[in-house]
Amino acid sequence: WYLTTGTPFFKDGEFCKWIGTSTDITEFKNLVKQKDTFLGIASHELKTPLTSLKLYAQVLERMLRKTGDEKNADFAKKMDLQVVKLTSLIGDLLDVTKINSGKIHLNQTHFNFQTVVMEIAEEMQMSTYHKIEIYGEKEGTVFADRERIGQVMTNLMSNAIKYSPDADRIIVETEHKGNDIIFTVKDFGIGMPPDKKDHVFEQYYRVSGDEESTFPGLGLGLYIAAQIVERSGGKIWVNSILGKGSTFSFSLPLVRN
Ligand code: ADP
Repeated sequence: WYLTTGTPFFKDGEFCKWIGTSTDITEFKNLVKQKDTFLGIASHELKTPLTSLKLYAQVLERMLRKTGDEKNADFAKKMDLQVVKLTSLIGDLLDVTKINSGKIHLNQTHFNFQTVVMEIAEEMQMSTYHKIEIYGEKEGTVFADRERIGQVMTNLMSNAIKYSPDADRIIVETEHKGNDIIFTVKDFGIGMPPDKKDHVFEQYYRVSGDEESTFPGLGLGLYIAAQIVERSGGKIWVNSILGKGSTFSFSLPLVRN
């Protein structure tokens, strides 16, 4: 593998010479591949013990509640929630290695888009003090991977919640536009500077600043979301105002009945 950069020179409109450099990047490419292989194996191995840990935490909580030991039952519940967070982080790492090695598989079926919106919103509502307001179209069938599209919605909603700690609501909207269905999540949180918003869909990218230490994360969720949406024939984008909030949207082609 060679990375070549340089300038071509022309004389009387004819190419005569080229000055530049050509660097052998085979080793670099191999290192990137090794890193992805390692991440893939490590995250896979970490998932198995976490599944048992989750089960033990749940059993422990149930046992403690039965004996009336509410304080320790709450600790067991907190343990369970931390395991859920860890599992989701590891899931993201695993997804990235799958995407980068071209091994992500989309299990496409026909489904009602809004049904998934309602399911995910209901699930998210259980774990936040933000009121999730839902508006828009009830009709609309898409042909995509139901679980993966749910994952994209979960990611956008949980970011909206995470990056708006001082707000008390987020707005979720679905609308038809031409041949597409558009899903939008609006928050009233920290927002981001205009020059940063085009980068948020890149791998490992996090908007730098104070929030980096305040809000934990790997900078992978939006990259994964963008890959899933684009591979499903849709688009993803963001509008944001620093200090006012962000609006993330994605589109998918509608299946006409
Ligand atoms: P993570 O949240 O784990 O850092 P993401 O890929 O989900 O990773 O997001 C990338 C970056 O985009 C975040 O670090 C954050 O800086 C910014 N971001 C994402 N969603 C929002 C939002 N709703 N409001 C403000 N910034 C956001």
